[in-house]
Amino acid sequence: MIREKSLKIIPLGGLGEVGRNMMLLEYNEAVLIIDMGLKMPEEDTPGIDYIVPNINYLSSLNKQSNGWRNRKQKNILGIVFTHGHYDHIGAIPYLIEKIWSPSLQFFASPLTRGIILKRQEEFPEHPQLKINEIKHGSIIELGPFRIEFFRQNHNIPDNFGLFIETPIGNILHTSDFKFDLNPVNELPTDFQKLRTLSEKKILLLMSDSTGAEENGHSLSEKTIEKNLEEIFQRSSGRIIAATFASLINRIQQIIFLSEKYGRKVIIEGYSIKNNMEMAEKLGRIKSKKGTIIKGKEIENYPDSKITILCTGAQGENQAVLMRLAQKRHARLRLKSGDSIILSSSVIPGNERTVQALKDAILRQGVKVFHYKMMDIHAGGHAQEQELKEMIKIIKPKFFIPIHGQYSMLVAHAEIARDTGMPEKNIVIIENGQIIDLTPKTIFIKRTKVPSNYVMVDGLGVGDVGEVVLRDRHMLARDGMFVIVAVVDKQSGKVIGSPDVISRGFIYLRESKQLLKETRQQVIKIVDQAVTSGGMINWIYVKDEMRNKIGQFFYSKTKRRPMILPVVIEV
Ligand SMILES: [Zn+2]
Ligand SMILES: [Zn+2]
Repeated sequence: MIREKSLKIIPLGGLGEVGRNMMLLEYNEAVLIIDMGLKMPEEDTPGIDYIVPNINYLSSLNKQSNGWRNRKQKNILGIVFTHGHYDHIGAIPYLIEKIWSPSLQFFASPLTRGIILKRQEEFPEHPQLKINEIKHGSIIELGPFRIEFFRQNHNIPDNFGLFIETPIGNILHTSDFKFDLNPVNELPTDFQKLRTLSEKKILLLMSDSTGAEENGHSLSEKTIEKNLEEIFQRSSGRIIAATFASLINRIQQIIFLSEKYGRKVIIEGYSIKNNMEMAEKLGRIKSKKGTIIKGKEIENYPDSKITILCTGAQGENQAVLMRLAQKRHARLRLKSGDSIILSSSVIPGNERTVQALKDAILRQGVKVFHYKMMDIHAGGHAQEQELKEMIKIIKPKFFIPIHGQYSMLVAHAEIARDTGMPEKNIVIIENGQIIDLTPKTIFIKRTKVPSNYVMVDGLGVGDVGEVVLRDRHMLARDGMFVIVAVVDKQSGKVIGSPDVISRGFIYLRESKQLLKETRQQVIKIVDQAVTSGGMINWIYVKDEMRNKIGQFFYSKTKRRPMILPVVIEV
């Protein structure tokens, strides 16, 4: 084998944004993939369900997958998953078919594996994924890479950092993490392990930046439980806790507290029920026999003995909490005396939805408790003090901040500088950039790989592009205007008066003059097209309608509706 002198590191998502984490390590045409996550849609992507990484760099290379003989062909060695959050595993159903081959290897912890496979059940037409289970201390060899998994605390159990030996040097990838001396239902941070890894000399550290802009130390899971307990102490009616289906630690804490205060727990919501059952089977969530009861058993207990655990912390439309607030839930209704625990750290772009949700809940005489830590990203990530400590323990030669908005990456780079790392050894990169790493140097290559948004809309992946989005913006802002002109094939004249349909632009009945002038313009455009040559170019006519009518509307209304010309020849 030819030994190359450098290793490429290519983030396809998650650097410069929160979500859709995915990274490639490439050596000698062989590629290791770390995570494959999705991102929730934003305010400026109307109608989009999810945003996933662009994997054109991989899929175009993998197309002729009958053998790796082509020297240029890259070989996807396998995919390792750090933990079971959707921003690390959620894109699998939308991307896996593009790179799948029977020999593709997957590696994940038991809980992560369980969450992935449960989700795959919703896609029965997909190939069966064979996922190898790894645990703390597992070592796997994939091509030129030797990967050791080590446990890291977060807000979900079974989260693993990666110690990767490569021909160029050792790389440490922290996964999402925080240092936690008092976790819930799992072991505290293993500093000794980190020191042992550090002794093997780390060439490059890639560390989670999500909490880099927060000072001090993140809250221990035990402290978070204590804070939640205050709400239990103050509530006399039912407690309704809204969270995320994969925020396993919060689910566990709510169950513990319910047991402590003699409450039975009802789990509401498809995804949370699924995750709960699976995590319980794997021993990652514990509950006493009889704590979890079925929805219909609720009548057998007084309100003070009931906890309802459900989805909808971010006001998701189809989630249980929204259905409760809007009285759309099949069995349950809110009532005065209920206490709802809601996340107050609203994802930007969701503010108005969550505000409306809150108001709808309060109108029903229900108490609302805000607790930031009900959110998936809150409370799970190392902050300034811990990030500094991580760098000091690992003592890497080079440092790349990963996972986070650009401002978070910059804050994390500053933290690294504060520990005394030389400026030139700290590199901030964003999605699509390529890092060239050698034992002595690190630099960003001039070329980039595609990393733009790939949007999932219903069942389609990537069929919504910039054009579709632009149309959605246009429709949302200025509405649409349809012109139907029936034209005599022989004479080239418009028959009768063109029909018009307006939606979201002007109210037709109150705009008679404007419509009259519009119709005259349409007739004129068709007439001119006919006289300018024997044959009529209908594409030209439609373009003219769009342009001229568009300008005309703008001059009269200062709006630019989407114009859809329809020409029917008879
Ligand atoms: Zn996470
Ligand atoms: Zn994450």
